[in-house]
Amino acid sequence: MNKRLLIVNRGEIAIRIMRTAKMMGITTVVLQSGREPDALYLQQADQIISVNDSADEKTVFLNPEKVIALALENQIDMIHPGYGFLSENPDFADLCMQNGLNFIGPSPELIRSMGLKTVAKEMALKAGMPLVPGSNGAVSSAEEAVQLAETIGYPVLLKASAGGGGRGMRVVEKPETMERNFKSAADEAISAFGNGDLFVEKYIVNPKHIEFQILGDKHGHVVHLGERECSLQRKHQKMIEEAPSPSLSDEKRREMGEMAVRFSETIGYYSAGTIEFIMDEDGSYYFMEMNTRIQVEHPVTEMVTDIDLIEWQIKIALGEPLTLQQSDIQLQGWAIECRVNTEDAQNRFAPETGFIENVRFPEGPGIRVETGIANGSVITPYFDSMAAKLVVLDSNRDKAIGKMIRALDAVRMTGLKTTIPFCKVVLQHPDFTSGIYTTRWVDDNYSPDMFYNEDDEMLGALAASIAYAMEYNEIASNSPGFTNESMSMWVLNKRINK
Ligand code: ADP
Repeated sequence: MNKRLLIVNRGEIAIRIMRTAKMMGITTVVLQSGREPDALYLQQADQIISVNDSADEKTVFLNPEKVIALALENQIDMIHPGYGFLSENPDFADLCMQNGLNFIGPSPELIRSMGLKTVAKEMALKAGMPLVPGSNGAVSSAEEAVQLAETIGYPVLLKASAGGGGRGMRVVEKPETMERNFKSAADEAISAFGNGDLFVEKYIVNPKHIEFQILGDKHGHVVHLGERECSLQRKHQKMIEEAPSPSLSDEKRREMGEMAVRFSETIGYYSAGTIEFIMDEDGSYYFMEMNTRIQVEHPVTEMVTDIDLIEWQIKIALGEPLTLQQSDIQLQGWAIECRVNTEDAQNRFAPETGFIENVRFPEGPGIRVETGIANGSVITPYFDSMAAKLVVLDSNRDKAIGKMIRALDAVRMTGLKTTIPFCKVVLQHPDFTSGIYTTRWVDDNYSPDMFYNEDDEMLGALAASIAYAMEYNEIASNSPGFTNESMSMWVLNKRINK
């Protein structure tokens, strides 16, 4: 395919997009930021455009005019924004279209509507989606919010209409604290998004975050690729994701999936998109928002469906019909993703920056690693801390959990601390293995001494040896025929059955 694709992103997602684009015969072009001149993704591109943005206030990845100018100078045909940065900026998508550049994503109008939570909720309501009880539109004052809260019942959540990343959100427990929270949420929303509109929702105390992946083409055909469970979050940032969700029956999956498809069809959505639902403890679920980009956690969906989402994003942008029918999409096995962030999990996730001295990731059947780092990579404070995603697929959930623990154990990384020890603790916790965890889990369970360490292992081994010895003595003293040979068999069996 004689096309030139500019990827306006960095790190693992730039590499991920390049992998598919190259397979399709597309020429890949990336931007070399002055903030990260030696990054791994640069080594894999067909062409690099150097930009010295280290002295500017904002990185090139956030500068629409500069990106467009560079794209035009370099005969670019298509632009993939990845996630974050300009991926959900409707003005950027608009500028691309105006300049004859094919923006890989939905229409700018839909990016704009879905970016305003109040507009998105209104559209969802029209399409018959269930909504969290609330104002469904901006409220003008703290008094109005109090009046609404009386009818909904406390606690309520104040949310910024233009919000993202959990900013501009406040839980209000009682009327007396409404005014203070209203003011601080509005101030935060104004400084973060330039829009202080707030709306009110019932606060769901112990929710699950379940999202559906959809694909739609420019000819009105939409399918869903099942769901991802993303309830394991810290400060509204996802840490571990899985597909399918342990909380959905086949029937509920069908029902929610059909709803996601109907909504996407109604609004005329094309490209890859994600419909987020929040689920209450009693299993009722509500539309939360729609993300109009490829998501960080898209690999778990690719693993269980064996469908390449980036390939479809590109084909759809080129106007090709989506040839997948809903009945073609079969979920096979269980996939889990762990985000490996350069943060010191044992020290309240303090950011770690500097050199990765050495790094080696595991390989094997059903193990997929998406990363933007290699030996000698530098983690700077300028970009987010996600250094890699480790993804596994196995035939069922228990096996996938076991495989992920072994894969995490096999990661060798020196130089910087990561969130791997935390992921290992979570994966072995009964709340995770039973699948009942909610978005509150990290807040409720994290403590710097929840970690398993080598001293504990030594103590554990010592205690086990003493227990063996005591049990052995007891058996030996009560069984005259107990020999050394039967003793070693007994120890061996104990170890195997442990
Ligand atoms: P953002 O765009 O800021 O990420 P979301 O609407 O996606 O905002 O909400 C972020 C997170 O906040 C969700 O994943 C969920 O954990 C929590 N949340 C959102 N709405 C509610 C609600 N009504 N009750 C409880 N938690 C909520």
